[in-house]
Amino acid sequence: MKIGIDAGGTLTKVAYVDGDYRRFEKWKSTDVDTLIKMIDSQYPQDEVFLTGGKAEYMAEKLNRNHGVSIEFDATYRGLKTLMAEQGIALERFVYLNVGTGTSFHHASSKGQKRVGGSGVGGGTLLGLSKLLVGIDDYNKIIHLADTGNRDAIDLKVHHIYNGRPTPIPGDLTASNFGNVISGDIESLEPADKLQAVIGLVAETVTAIGINLAEGYDTKDIVFIGSTLFDNKVMQEIINRYAGLKGAKAHIIDNGEYSGALGAIL
Ligand code: ATP
Ligand code: MG
Repeated sequence: MKIGIDAGGTLTKVAYVDGDYRRFEKWKSTDVDTLIKMIDSQYPQDEVFLTGGKAEYMAEKLNRNHGVSIEFDATYRGLKTLMAEQGIALERFVYLNVGTGTSFHHASSKGQKRVGGSGVGGGTLLGLSKLLVGIDDYNKIIHLADTGNRDAIDLKVHHIYNGRPTPIPGDLTASNFGNVISGDIESLEPADKLQAVIGLVAETVTAIGINLAEGYDTKDIVFIGSTLFDNKVMQEIINRYAGLKGAKAHIIDNGEYSGALGAIL
């Protein structure tokens, strides 16, 4: 068995691979010492490959490791494998890894290049949710957000143009949270606020992705990272916004395991 571990800022992703057998697992990165003990006791004979921001820490503590990869290289190797398996045949594309923060890359037949980053990512989603409604449980946040409505929170382009013709689609967000100042906020529910938080993160990263794709002469924007996981609100906003701008969003199943898988490859 080969075990690939991507130890990120928030979550540590583990891929167990043995021939055709594959299993993925997520751990909280704060539980990394428990994970190390588990690997040492339950998989003493297996090969362990590491990547991610906390890989060096793990390498120091584990009794063995068979290689530490640079996060961006490992992630790209894993991503290409997952894309091929999911029938997404792209050579030239941009991709966004929406982790704790977000990193932006472009890819071609020559490989990948990291072209930027943003502090807006999954950590923002959790942090703002906690500040605004006191919830920091990811699963609670995404499911509650799905029942909300952010219309009274976000200012849309058509709000500003007030019925007059708009130069860009009226339904685009002109200002995330920009409607709060004039709106009826007494009636807002936690679900509405959570949906607006996800909207802010989704639209910010997608806007950068769209600009990057335009500059790189592609329409394909690939999204990975645990912030997408099961996150219906985020996925819908990404797909819709990219579509409105003539781009195509590809959200990769198990994309958050790209680094863990790629560490083995
Ligand atoms: P980075 O790559 O920036 O170092 P990371 O690898 O830990 O960070 P990901 O695992 O891709 O990042 O994404 C982390 C984000 O995923 C969290 O900030 C949160 O929004 C979301 N998330 C998804 N599932 C969970 C979960 N079970 N617990 C906590 N956060 C989760
Ligand atoms: Mg990561």
